[in-house]
Amino acid sequence: MLLDLFRPFSFFQMTLMLMGIGIFWYYLTCGGLYLWLHRSKMSQRVGKWRTQRAWPTPKQVKGEVVDGTVSMAMVMVVVSAAFWLGIHGYSGLYADPGEYGLAYIPLSIFGVFVTMEVFEWTFHWACHRNDLLWKVHKHHHRYSNPTAFGVMADQPLDMLVKASPIFFIPFLFPIWDVALIGTFATLNFVYGTYLHAGFDFSFMPSPHSRYLVSAWHHNEHHAGSLDYNYGFFTGFMDLIFKTRYTPSDKAAKRSTYRCPECRNREAEAA
Ligand SMILES: [Zn+2]
Ligand SMILES: [Zn+2]
Repeated sequence: MLLDLFRPFSFFQMTLMLMGIGIFWYYLTCGGLYLWLHRSKMSQRVGKWRTQRAWPTPKQVKGEVVDGTVSMAMVMVVVSAAFWLGIHGYSGLYADPGEYGLAYIPLSIFGVFVTMEVFEWTFHWACHRNDLLWKVHKHHHRYSNPTAFGVMADQPLDMLVKASPIFFIPFLFPIWDVALIGTFATLNFVYGTYLHAGFDFSFMPSPHSRYLVSAWHHNEHHAGSLDYNYGFFTGFMDLIFKTRYTPSDKAAKRSTYRCPECRNREAEAA
């Protein structure tokens, strides 16, 4: 489906179009969410769910937007390369959903999910343990109180590796183009945007969730507990490698600490 849309174009044209779409989508969704949650009347109503009490500084937000724009362009080079290989039959990326039967699609989506969970966690962990990789990844940690824009605010090389599953997964197993891009975008972009937006909404995974990564967990990774919570969607890898950090761990160090959920529950009970 997606490959068919770009088939008539050269690699260069396709890359420019994809960059335009990606950057437009980034400003629309992350910009919209930022304005809505931080700059509109809504910010007072949802204030009780804020992960950190301080507001991010305008300088930080500006930095996120600049980094995010460059990184989004970088992701789209990877997407374009993957599409080009698929269009020319060099990889297992295919356009017709019926090519391997419809039952294969959920199975392959699960394959993408597992590959990404393992790969993204491992790369993120390595970035915090290897001096050279840390030089690249610490760019993302300039934002200790991130906003939605922070989802893409990486050093472009960091983003290049993070986006690489789009490139290499079609060499591991055949994958329908919509399934690959859809799963990648949902995990990394849609959920990632929420993880960075600075709010722990009650209808989203709780900070006390056993297996899921909530906005609290990733915010904690930014706010100070750098050696914990490397996962982006499920906490399985963090649980296996004992790098999961929870509100109870934090409260054990500082008895007065309350995560937004506990804080709000106590305020309601009072
Ligand atoms: Zn990190
Ligand atoms: Zn982050």
